[in-house]
Amino acid sequence: MNVNCDGIVRWLRGFAAAVAADSAYLTELDAAIGDADHGTNLDRGMTALVAALDTRPPATIEEAAKLAAMTLISKVGGASGPLYGTFFLRFAVAVSGAETLTAEQYAAALRAGVDGVAARGKAAAGDKTMLDALLPACAACESATAQGLHAALTAAAGAAQEGRDATAPLIARKGRASYLGERSAGHVDPGASSAALLMVTAADALG
Ligand code: ADP
Ligand code: MG
Repeated sequence: MNVNCDGIVRWLRGFAAAVAADSAYLTELDAAIGDADHGTNLDRGMTALVAALDTRPPATIEEAAKLAAMTLISKVGGASGPLYGTFFLRFAVAVSGAETLTAEQYAAALRAGVDGVAARGKAAAGDKTMLDALLPACAACESATAQGLHAALTAAAGAAQEGRDATAPLIARKGRASYLGERSAGHVDPGASSAALLMVTAADALG
């Protein structure tokens, strides 16, 4: 089964539910190395997105991703709003005109979104950001597309979770956590944690 618009909407709703459930935890992670708002920021944006999906159901994958992008950019403050917004905007452009996505097309859209995050945030692997979950997820997804969508999504989710956990010992080089220098080590990055939720909920909704 390929990914269709209903699947993408399920994914966005699933991500919203996961963020709501883990909002306090994400904020706690941000309290340790940031300003204690990551869970609240993202929950506000995803709650607004669910309301928008209810009132203006998107007709295409591109529309769904664009709605996510616009809502996150306008409702989520901080660094993560524009970054997640960029992810969905680039994803939307990559799927433009497609009714459904094969595993390869989904992997390409994921890559476009993640490259957008890297360009926008000027961050790279190992900087202790959401990219440390997203970049391994992309690579794992691309490597597994030949085994089908389910395998690709499952591999991406697993790699994102491993990437999230591997941020703990890192010293932050981007964002607020970088102000702490070496004191940022010993804590999981909040954005990597929410990005792992994004990939796990993708596997649940689309796999
Ligand atoms: P803020 O840091 O402005 O309070 P949030 O708390 O919502 O924003 O999000 C913090 C997360 O954003 C970090 O944990 C990190 O994963 C991510 N982040 C911050 N700066 C960057 C960047 N330049 N590139 C990629 N991700 C970043
Ligand atoms: Mg913060």
